Amino acid sequence: MAELILEDVCKTFRNQTAVDHLSLTIPDGAFCALLGPSGCGKTTTLRMIAGLEHLTSGRLTMNGMVLDDGRVAVAPEKRRMSMVFQSYALWPHMTVIENVAYPLKVQGLPSPQAQKAARKMLEIVDMRGYENRKVQELSGGQRQRVALARCLVAEPEVVLLDEPLANLDRHLRATMEESFREFHRETGATFVFVTHDQAEAMALATHVAVMHQGGLVQWGTPESLYQQPETSWLAQFIGKGSVINLPVNTQSDRLLKNQDFALTASTIQQPITQQPVLIRPEHIHITNTGTPAQVTDCVFLGERYLLTLRFADDQQSVSCYHHTALPQGSLVNIEIEQGWRVDVA
Ligand code: ADP
Ligand code: MG
Repeated sequence: MAELILEDVCKTFRNQTAVDHLSLTIPDGAFCALLGPSGCGKTTTLRMIAGLEHLTSGRLTMNGMVLDDGRVAVAPEKRRMSMVFQSYALWPHMTVIENVAYPLKVQGLPSPQAQKAARKMLEIVDMRGYENRKVQELSGGQRQRVALARCLVAEPEVVLLDEPLANLDRHLRATMEESFREFHRETGATFVFVTHDQAEAMALATHVAVMHQGGLVQWGTPESLYQQPETSWLAQFIGKGSVINLPVNTQSDRLLKNQDFALTASTIQQPITQQPVLIRPEHIHITNTGTPAQVTDCVFLGERYLLTLRFADDQQSVSCYHHTALPQGSLVNIEIEQGWRVDVA
């Protein structure tokens, strides 16, 4: 059982602010992604949770117990947490099994039991047969899995992962994503993982904290971030889609339906009020009547095509899915099924 609460957490290195008034409640058993571009403070946040960095100010609690309040901090080894580092940080002078058994030895478990548990964990990560290899003799993906086995062997309440899939090829990545979901289900531990890859965050997480320049942009389920991003920055950071200025008839809702756009068959009517609106590709349909547009790009995705379309009279572009390829330059008519009004940021 581990609920983690960050309250107004700040971290400064000399005069550089790495984390800026970050507040988050990570529920027990969540699979939480810290998502954001490079340098936005994800690793620093994870290291503060682990106890490897101290808070400059704010408060971090686990199940109501203060872990760090900027003055006193609980030592990392007393937190029932385990972390996989971006660089894996395996011991180069130890074999694979010695690496995995190490956390249990530190806890005082006799060697045969530690080895047995390590062996079992290596089987789970699909590394049976590699027990006596040296770390240098492993590929990036294999090191990754050893690091994961070492992290999970002590059955931590909180698992912290820093860009765990960044160095893996696409195929191994998909397999590891599946294993992570399985580990998460089986262990019931609270997982916090760092990634700059929005597709990975969406695929794995139950909760996502989007960070930008040390602060929290938005917190929610992957679905809510995809469907209801508050800012145009987030709208474009997550998923495919375009933020364009459209004449909108209504001031009320953020969710806009077809009839809320002042588009006619011949043209985009000039300003009623132009507002920034997120349009996802699944909400654009090619129709017989509708607003004229030109195909400027067509990408084969396997199961369908992704078209880029430019409105005939104002150079703004949107994208849409289509079941067949359309040549560049084709003229089409489109309808917008729905859009989402965003704030400019
Ligand atoms: P991310 O993991 O999102 O890429 P980091 O948390 O590693 O970002 O870094 C956030 C900011 O803090 C960066 O500008 C980085 O240069 C700075 N930073 C991180 N660690 C240190 C450190 N030990 N000393 C000084 N600056 C640091
Ligand atoms: Mg990082």
